[in-house]
Amino acid sequence: MTTPTPEVLPAPQFAAAWHAMAQAERILIVTHVKPDGDAIGALCGLALALRELGKPPLAVVDGSVPEYLRFIPGSDATVPRVTAGDFDVMISVDASDEERTGAPGVYGRAHSALVINIDHHPTNTAFGALHVIVPDAVSTTQILFDLLSIADRPISQAVAGALLAGMVTDTIGFRTNNVTPRTLEIAQALMRAGASLHEIMTRTLGTMSWRNVELWKYALQTVALEKGVISAAITREAIKLAHMSQPSDSGGFVGFLNSTEEARIAAVFKEVEDGKVEMSFRAKPGFDVATLALSLGGGGHRLAAGVTLSGTLEEVQARVLPLLQQAAADGAS
Ligand code: 5GP
Ligand code: MN
Repeated sequence: MTTPTPEVLPAPQFAAAWHAMAQAERILIVTHVKPDGDAIGALCGLALALRELGKPPLAVVDGSVPEYLRFIPGSDATVPRVTAGDFDVMISVDASDEERTGAPGVYGRAHSALVINIDHHPTNTAFGALHVIVPDAVSTTQILFDLLSIADRPISQAVAGALLAGMVTDTIGFRTNNVTPRTLEIAQALMRAGASLHEIMTRTLGTMSWRNVELWKYALQTVALEKGVISAAITREAIKLAHMSQPSDSGGFVGFLNSTEEARIAAVFKEVEDGKVEMSFRAKPGFDVATLALSLGGGGHRLAAGVTLSGTLEEVQARVLPLLQQAAADGAS
């Protein structure tokens, strides 16, 4: 396999992180709650690579792997919780802060000698003793590709499939403005290693359940465009009418809204249990939703971020919409 040349010299943390993993016997891998394709791709890709090295880790997904991501190689070897055992190393992938690692992170921090934090969110809080944080990487799986390349590890078909899934989902099929020639070189290398780009594209971006279509139908009835911000709500009522217990991917919907020509920023407000509202933000290049998300206690990237707040839908919208409109007026600083 041809290895794309790194654009930047590998951070010394790459070697330190790999060394710590290779030394460890008992390894725990965790990712963020409400995992997306990059979270599952990174967790499974790293777990498979360590298994191939003769160090099978415990890979935990808080709750379980969302149905639409279960095609990702290695996802059937994950477990939904960890309640026993001690670990030499806990590796957190794609989680920008400790809270995002959920219950597995709480257990892991209390029962691991070392915490390694691998992520590409610019809002990462640098938790853990060892960090490999590369904000320029399009996905956490891209960082893992570099980590394995630097460690001179071969990339199997299964690992390639998991890593490519993270790149495809976080770039919405290589459409985001952080995609470089090198991103495509890495994708090419992963395809040469046997990953099916078509299968990943179809399963993650090219398929919607009828229930989801119905959910979009109800959500679109609430859509509004004001001061450069397009927004819509997914109410408990709509979720019930669409016969969904827990809608998985809201990313597709907010991305669709953000494609509106007149919008600078898009936001989806989703009513979840316990009087909370989960928000997904997207911005056009030149605008920034990460700063706002971070100031509210969430995080993400400049062009894709999110946060969950307590309150009714109306209260949260009344608080957050003016802030989004301000971000749309400011542009990126
Ligand atoms: P999405 O809108 O697809 O759920 O998330 C967009 C981006 O924002 C992702 O990178 C995701 O990890 C991040 N994000 C979404 N919600 C939260 C949150 O509550 N806290 C933090 N730290 N990041 C979030
Ligand atoms: Mn990611």
